Amino acid sequence: MRSTTSRQLAVGSRQEDRSPAYCPLRTAYPSLLLALLLALAGCGRDHEISSGEFRGAPVILISIDTLRSDRLPVYGYANIRTPAIDALAADGIVFERAYSNVPLTLPSHTSILTGLLPPEHGVRNNVGFHYDVTKHPAITTALRNANYKAAAAVSAYVLRGNTGLSDAFDFYDDAIGAEAGVATGRLQRPGTVTLNVAQQWIDRNAADPFFLLFHIFEPHSPHVGSYDDEVVAADVITGKLFEYLKAKGLYDKSVIILLSDHGEGLGDHGEEEHGVFLYREALQVPLIVKLPGSVRRGERVATLASLIDVAPTIAFLAGVDHSSGKGINLFDPDALAKRRAIYSETLYPRIHLGWSELRSLVDSQHHYIEAPKPELYDLGADAAERSNVLNDQRRVYASLRDELAKYSHAAATPATVDPEEAKKLEALGYLGSIKSTEGPLPDPKDHIQELRALQQAARLAFEGRNKEAAESLRGILSANPRFSDAWAKLGSVYEALGQNEKAIQAYGEGIRAAPSSAAEFALSMAELYVRLHRFEDAKKHAELALAGNPSGAHESLARIALESGDLALAERESRAAATTAGTVILARIHAAQGRFDDALHMLEQLRGEAASKQMHVEGLEFALGDLYAKMNRFAEAEQAFRNEIAMFPSDLQAYSSLAVVLVVQKKYDAVDPVLTQMAENNRSPQAYLVAAKTYAVLGDARTAAQWRNRAAQAQ
Ligand SMILES: [Zn+2]
Repeated sequence: MRSTTSRQLAVGSRQEDRSPAYCPLRTAYPSLLLALLLALAGCGRDHEISSGEFRGAPVILISIDTLRSDRLPVYGYANIRTPAIDALAADGIVFERAYSNVPLTLPSHTSILTGLLPPEHGVRNNVGFHYDVTKHPAITTALRNANYKAAAAVSAYVLRGNTGLSDAFDFYDDAIGAEAGVATGRLQRPGTVTLNVAQQWIDRNAADPFFLLFHIFEPHSPHVGSYDDEVVAADVITGKLFEYLKAKGLYDKSVIILLSDHGEGLGDHGEEEHGVFLYREALQVPLIVKLPGSVRRGERVATLASLIDVAPTIAFLAGVDHSSGKGINLFDPDALAKRRAIYSETLYPRIHLGWSELRSLVDSQHHYIEAPKPELYDLGADAAERSNVLNDQRRVYASLRDELAKYSHAAATPATVDPEEAKKLEALGYLGSIKSTEGPLPDPKDHIQELRALQQAARLAFEGRNKEAAESLRGILSANPRFSDAWAKLGSVYEALGQNEKAIQAYGEGIRAAPSSAAEFALSMAELYVRLHRFEDAKKHAELALAGNPSGAHESLARIALESGDLALAERESRAAATTAGTVILARIHAAQGRFDDALHMLEQLRGEAASKQMHVEGLEFALGDLYAKMNRFAEAEQAFRNEIAMFPSDLQAYSSLAVVLVVQKKYDAVDPVLTQMAENNRSPQAYLVAAKTYAVLGDARTAAQWRNRAAQAQ
């Protein structure tokens, strides 16, 4: 790779340099005070960076999920203080206009790590797509070839290692537990826990060159406080990482890159979160690069940058060979100076909501968004992207439209599902699917309010008003049958109502609406079939998920085999899953084989690990309770079931087992409160039926009948 001269760098402060001490700051600074401080700090001296100049330096990539650049003081925001990020910016180079290529966590991180656009690396959504490091090497592949060790400590379920990402690392920690009432896409762990994991890994490995991906999820919903509060919390965690690095003597000699994978709507164009739209609030992210020795500290680069530039930039700094796609080395002034436009896309509206996908190109002046009704924004006059100037600037529109057309349109949507998958879908009668998502789809901007209707229905269900929720969802779906998220919700509402056949139908419609999400729907169906003891159907559907969600499929197949008594198969499948849930199932298999000590050892070890990582593992305490009960250790069994209920109030089986253990201990008075609590926490016919069944097992036919009546009334 060629060396570069910073003098030509398209940086406001560089071009007019007159003396080393004079740093005119032409770009918009948050305050004059900050400008003065930076000027006093000297802006760093001219320093020509050459390829491999920082060979062997630790590379630390900090990804703060869902962080809009315009909500950081470094980028002009005045409502909060973020001293840690400010300090990094003062020691580093701030890219003022950095853009994400996709507003979704998994695809965006895959772009960051590979330097490829989503159509190139093939990971187009958080679910249903698998990253293949052998086909699309990551920057860590090149670094590991150069004797780096590569580690990742992540804080969100959507970035779990078995998406394929862990194959790009020597160490990958994603120990994120389940949480009652939280959708998997929102599952996270506190950044402080992730920080502990990262520090322990660095303690063991800092003698070698290393790469660390440190990912925290604080600004992502669900929020503990306001969005601003969460950004401040992320800054505090980042500050702790810097303190640790300084104490270890690593801060100064490391390349530290801080960025976010995408922004957050916050209602600017009607979207509260992210994934649907491609406006600036979803795409424009912070990007700060601190070099060893804080070389070139205080520079601000006004030229466009993109997250696919990160991998080639790291390759340049560390002097490793990483061939990637359209990204550039941000220290190559010629590449930076060249006019370019940055591609972004989102398939989320198509896959989840039945609306059109969006693609966009942003250049130094304009942002063009390709949609059923296309949009063009003049960023100089309208940074907030309020007025569509497409009709006034037809020539700009035509040129950006033509430029976007060069990104193969075939790449705009994944080719539905691969033929192998299509065969399996066809065999189960889900092939109608594929046609229904072709053809023109509605424009997301005309329908964004409908997301609110789905949220309201979800709220009704949460409040136990399942009948009303089902009615509302049926209304939403009759207007938009491609709304796969609504089918998923309707399926779970029918399950709560004990209307299992309707639930199965709803999940099936979900597959037809969104074949690429077939794995998730199929797994819901498999779980339901297991409960109904329809093991053949369960197995067929779990197998349908093998391609889209292999570990989820193996977990499900292990449970099916366990329930149907095939312990050898159950063991193979739980080992194939290679997940925490798989380990719990393996312990249950040992218990079923009478190997109580082995089972206990596994579960207690897992309990210790979970506690150290503040991780809630669904079913772990239940499995312990069940095992203790089998070993006649009833007091411990009772406590374990109570633990499970405290963590997962919707785990109906735990209440039922607890009631049995109470009776065995002759604690008859404690039974009613437990089953009443179950009904209060779940308020569904399904819960009332479990209560009825439990009383029947305990020999109280009269109370069982009362609960059956209650279930019938609520259905
Ligand atoms: Zn994200």
